[in-house]
Amino acid sequence: MTQESGGFAALELHPSIVAAVIATGYEEPSAIQQQSIPIILAGHDMIGQAQTGTGKTAAFALPILHRIDPSKREPQALILAPTRELALQVATAFETYAKQMPGVNVVAVYGGAPMGPQLKAIRNGAQIVVATPGRLCDHLRRDEKVLATVNHLVLDEADEMLKLGFMDDLEVIFDAMPETRQTVLFSATLPASIRAIAERHLRDPKHVKIQSKTQTVSAIEQAYLLVHADQKVPAVLRLLEVEEFDALIAFVRTKQATLDLASALEAKGYKAAALNGDIAQNQRERVIDSLKDGRLDIVVATDVAARGLDVPRITHVFNVDMPYDPESYVHRIGRTGRAGREGRALLLVTPRERRMLQVIERVTGQKVAEVRLPNAQAVLDARIKKLTNSLAPLVADAEASHGELLDRLTADIGCTPRALAAALLSKATNGQALDLATVERDQPLVPTAAPRERTGERSGERHERRAPMPLGEGRVRCRTALGARDGIAAKNLLGAILNEGGLVRETIGRIQVRDSFSLVELPEDGLDRLLAKLKDTRVAGKQLKLRRYRED
Ligand code: ADP
Ligand code: MG
Repeated sequence: MTQESGGFAALELHPSIVAAVIATGYEEPSAIQQQSIPIILAGHDMIGQAQTGTGKTAAFALPILHRIDPSKREPQALILAPTRELALQVATAFETYAKQMPGVNVVAVYGGAPMGPQLKAIRNGAQIVVATPGRLCDHLRRDEKVLATVNHLVLDEADEMLKLGFMDDLEVIFDAMPETRQTVLFSATLPASIRAIAERHLRDPKHVKIQSKTQTVSAIEQAYLLVHADQKVPAVLRLLEVEEFDALIAFVRTKQATLDLASALEAKGYKAAALNGDIAQNQRERVIDSLKDGRLDIVVATDVAARGLDVPRITHVFNVDMPYDPESYVHRIGRTGRAGREGRALLLVTPRERRMLQVIERVTGQKVAEVRLPNAQAVLDARIKKLTNSLAPLVADAEASHGELLDRLTADIGCTPRALAAALLSKATNGQALDLATVERDQPLVPTAAPRERTGERSGERHERRAPMPLGEGRVRCRTALGARDGIAAKNLLGAILNEGGLVRETIGRIQVRDSFSLVELPEDGLDRLLAKLKDTRVAGKQLKLRRYRED
């Protein structure tokens, strides 16, 4: 034990940081951490180059936590990340590593959420600000002094930020910060644009570059889902609704299973095909070419049939059936994350197969995170997001090309443009209403298997088949007497709770709005404080009066 923790202890980080890191389960610093932490601790500017999954977050978060002064209640470190998701991930990581440092506060600043609470959190003494550049610039426009006290700046995934067009925003942010600050830049690649930024804004930076040997596995985000064997197909269908994949390969054990799953997927409208040992070589090549050029999005394969398959479009590997050994698991998931790209690997585990999961974790040296089946709300959100994404790019030009036709049709039919737009939406969704009831109807509840033994049973979790969607880990249901008849929609409740409660979206679970009441899943941790905060909250002009809900 002492030997294992020696790695972090030797880095001369504050003992409370080392303790939190060890409590997180890290045994040894990764290569990028080993090399970056002393440089950042010493106050140097730095350029770090390493692939995804090499542990860059802790490489800057730990030394920065060491260097801030928790007794000063003002922003001291700013971390810029390209997207809201990454900003939230980094903020959560900071919170984890600062668990044993009382008085350290972290705020995430990103678009799509109200600005007021974010600014309030900054002013209320958050020492660490994690932000997307665009939103931070909005704040700077309101208050140009917000960054005046920040003396540590980290650009995380700098290449991605430039790809997303944040160059001008970055310049504004650099200008709003003290020149004496420390600047650290992390990037998977170092194109000329990044080197130019470093030249202008970093002072005598040290370089750290990590060539990851286990790049293929480490660039892949791994997760598993516990499921009963006879529920695998519905579980896959449900997962596919929320996974944002480009191309996907699903592994099964038998020829029959390739055919069964491929036809279940086709029936749901996916462009899917089977690949197994019975399929002739020329047909096999056709399937692979189709996957490459997008005529197919999903291939269901056996291990043998997928051998040597190299399609850069593959973003996801679904291990629907467990591989026979850990080596073939590594081979399978190596179909994604090609050429240093990110990939995601999902493993379906039946209760009997848990031991194999542990073997896989040991052999790959990586923890595989447990995921739960997305609930109907998540499926609905994903469907609406897909529709939004498919329509949003058309909006700009469609009025010029189809505006006149719209006028003519509304005149001929004698309807409003809203009615016509609704009819077109109905056509675009094959007549399916995009609401919870529809999702629940065509995505039948998949009973989840009991949670993993070593995590222990949680009280209050239900597994019987008639049970409502299992509650998310650490969440409880709360009830309000406001419902649909009060003119309430889920998004009103969500908005009110996020704003007034100061929560991030991810902490709130399913919201069910019924006619005369609504249920909201909230984090159990700190619930009383949260409910107290929400005491006077009004939604649609009425008092929310949220209470813990006990069902039985
Ligand atoms: P990157 O930013 O390089 O893509 P992350 O910082 O997101 O990588 O880390 C990837 C994963 O590795 C995270 O799940 C993180 O918790 C884990 N991790 C980071 N450092 C260590 C470590 N020293 N030991 C074990 N796991 C680690
Ligand atoms: Mg990262």
